Amino acid sequence: MLEIGLTGGIGSGKTRVADLFAARGAALIDTDLLAHEITAPGGAAIPLLVEAFGAACLRPDGAMDRDAMRARVFSDPSAKRTLESITHPLIRSLTVARADAIRAAGAHPYLIYVVPLLVESGTWRERVGRVLVVDCREETQVARVMARNGFTREQVEAIMRRQATRADRLACADDVIDNDGPPEALPPQVERLDALYRATRGGIAAR
Ligand code: ADP
Repeated sequence: MLEIGLTGGIGSGKTRVADLFAARGAALIDTDLLAHEITAPGGAAIPLLVEAFGAACLRPDGAMDRDAMRARVFSDPSAKRTLESITHPLIRSLTVARADAIRAAGAHPYLIYVVPLLVESGTWRERVGRVLVVDCREETQVARVMARNGFTREQVEAIMRRQATRADRLACADDVIDNDGPPEALPPQVERLDALYRATRGGIAAR
């Protein structure tokens, strides 16, 4: 089964594009959703987080307090490393388990991993047969994230500075979806790639 890594900068439209592929029958594993899952109440990361950061890192419902942790790691690189040393291995093993189950079920034509920091990660590119980049102008990213999250321009630009550049991502792409236009421009592009992915057997060898 072909396995594809879908990436793009914040606000580029990864979620929207991934949903269109899922509607056409693709299996999806969204690493951001897995990160939420392990930090939800009772999630696998919660006891480790309490051990490392104290109970103050949790909200009253027992989920990780994302706002508090974001503020903490923003100003403290060692807290960031600790947080990542807890969450990354858990996300990775859940990803592997989900992918194994999807392959074993054999019900999907191909598998898409949604990985926001695929280009930045040392290992993801070797784990997938193709890299699909959702692309738009940086100004479009800023406008979308300001509208979606209520962030200021400065907040969005600070996040973007910590991500790969648009050029870096495009340099890694096997396939590109242009999402600078209206939402109606997406389905024909997804349809074309869906046909290509269905016609491509195997994973890494297909590259
Ligand atoms: P990502 O998952 O890459 O951060 P999303 O898919 O959440 O991006 O899209 C970011 C925001 O922009 C969302 O609010 C989404 O509804 C909106 N959006 C995405 N694509 C378009 C588009 N082509 N036109 C207008 N709004 C869009």
